[in-house]
Amino acid sequence: MNEAFYQKLRTILDDNQIMIEEPLARHTTFLIGGPAWFLVLPESVSDVAAVVKLCLAENMPYYIMGNGSNLLVSDKGYRGTIIKLGQSFSKISIDEEKYIVRAEAGVLLSKLANEVADHSLTGFEFAAGIPGTLGGAVTMNAGAYDGEIKQAILEAVLLDKDGNILRLNKEELKMGYRTTIIQENHYIVLEAVFGFQPGVKEDILSKIKDLNARRREKQPLEYPSAGSTFKRPAGYYAGKLIMDSGLRGYQVGNAQVSEKHCGFVINKGGATATEVKTLISDIIEIVNNKFGVVLEPEVKLLGEF
Ligand SMILES: Cc1cc2nc3c(=O)[nH]c(=O)nc-3n(C[C@H](O)[C@H](O)[C@H](O)COP(=O)(O)OP(=O)(O)OC[C@H]3O[C@@H](n4cnc5c(N)ncnc54)[C@H](O)[C@@H]3O)c2cc1C
Repeated sequence: MNEAFYQKLRTILDDNQIMIEEPLARHTTFLIGGPAWFLVLPESVSDVAAVVKLCLAENMPYYIMGNGSNLLVSDKGYRGTIIKLGQSFSKISIDEEKYIVRAEAGVLLSKLANEVADHSLTGFEFAAGIPGTLGGAVTMNAGAYDGEIKQAILEAVLLDKDGNILRLNKEELKMGYRTTIIQENHYIVLEAVFGFQPGVKEDILSKIKDLNARRREKQPLEYPSAGSTFKRPAGYYAGKLIMDSGLRGYQVGNAQVSEKHCGFVINKGGATATEVKTLISDIIEIVNNKFGVVLEPEVKLLGEF
């Protein structure tokens, strides 16, 4: 343990906000990942800024995490500090007259979608079944069915490496398919502001129910995973390419191409990150040999592989 760094962290955070050698398997939906040197749970923007500043000054690698639902963390863990934005950043405020919703980065999308629905606002139903935080979703420009974050976002409030707060509008965020300028510039999402439309509450709730039922029917939600493993290649569906390559149920150790939905790599129980990574590499090679399409992982890899 880096005692000197730990003591400096303690000048910013309380002891119960600092975890040492914390297994990241506890923080990812894959239930995979070795320990992080430190995992911190800041409770304010100034905490976040101070931790980033300290990490930069001490040459300590750091990484922002939300709900860990799009992450494959190495079995060796992460040699650095994970800054996890969760419950302390989950304030939501809704302007019913202007149909504007402002929410902090740690709020879960399911909670936000239901809150938006409760106020009879439509435009966020697609997000209800995505198991991430708002910060992760804005960073990834997450999307599902007929929606993506880009459609409704008005602005994001971000923290840059120098501790400046930036407000970027939709155009400035440069949102594309699962990409944003946030990833490129390593900004930290603090808040996002959305503009929705008035709707009929029962219809909105019924759409959420319907989309969630479609997920349960089509996706292997009974197993740990990080959702769709690959991005959708232009003109194809990753899951279909994988299925047509004969890989349904293909397994490396306890990591498997889901039999229910070939676009998902699942953890059948006790899978290691190395097994998942090998499976991903095998899929890429086999699909490329068969169809000449190079699949690109949507899941983010963290740590040493
Ligand atoms: C069962 C299942 C279904 C899924 N379905 C979908 C789907 O339909 N559509 C979809 O798009 N995704 C889907 N996903 C993937 C995942 O839920 C989304 O990518 C989600 O937006 C990730 O949010 P997170 O908080 O878990 O981010 P994490 O996994 O913790 O992080 C993902 C990336 O975002 C960055 N990040 C996280 N928070 C912040 C922040 N505050 N500021 C800056 N960067 C940040 C991280 O550094 C990392 O690069 C699914 C996953 C699962 C397990």
